[in-house]
Amino acid sequence: MATAAPQERCIFCEIVAGRRPASFVYTDDDVVAFLDIRPLTRGHLLVIPRVHADRLETLDPELGARVFTVAQQLAVALRGSGFCAGTNLFLADGVLAGQEVFHVHLHVVPRTQGDGFGLQAKRRHESDRDELDATAEQIRVATGSIPQ
Ligand code: AMP
Ligand code: ZN
Repeated sequence: MATAAPQERCIFCEIVAGRRPASFVYTDDDVVAFLDIRPLTRGHLLVIPRVHADRLETLDPELGARVFTVAQQLAVALRGSGFCAGTNLFLADGVLAGQEVFHVHLHVVPRTQGDGFGLQAKRRHESDRDELDATAEQIRVATGSIPQ
């Protein structure tokens, strides 16, 4: 798997290197998962690649797949064990998206009845098909170079 030098002053590289404390729930050669220090709900986890990548653009896609797989397995196990009744997975990529720590991380937020967590957003009106098709065309053009 890809290698990159740990970044000085990256909190999560420090955690991976064992220079800052973390409460780990999972580790392997590529990925680690630990408790978020300011949890949205009890058991809120962060799943990260060991190798530093500041955002999705610089993350090896294979490693991204590993991060997702570990998050999926943790979410399924948490729900299956009765720790929670559901989970939300969330990733902030970019300042505008709310990213605060620039080492890619996937949040796994366990959900229980009345936990007070929820996404607040104003939904747009239900779009008509022409509008959706036009947006789809714009996105196909913008993303056309993605390898199959
Ligand atoms: P984001 O806004 O997606 O970049 O989220 C960054 C997350 O990292 C926040 O939920 C923080 O609470 C969490 N965080 C920051 N520092 C630490 C740390 N030292 N240990 C665990 N979680 C942290
Ligand atoms: Zn880092």
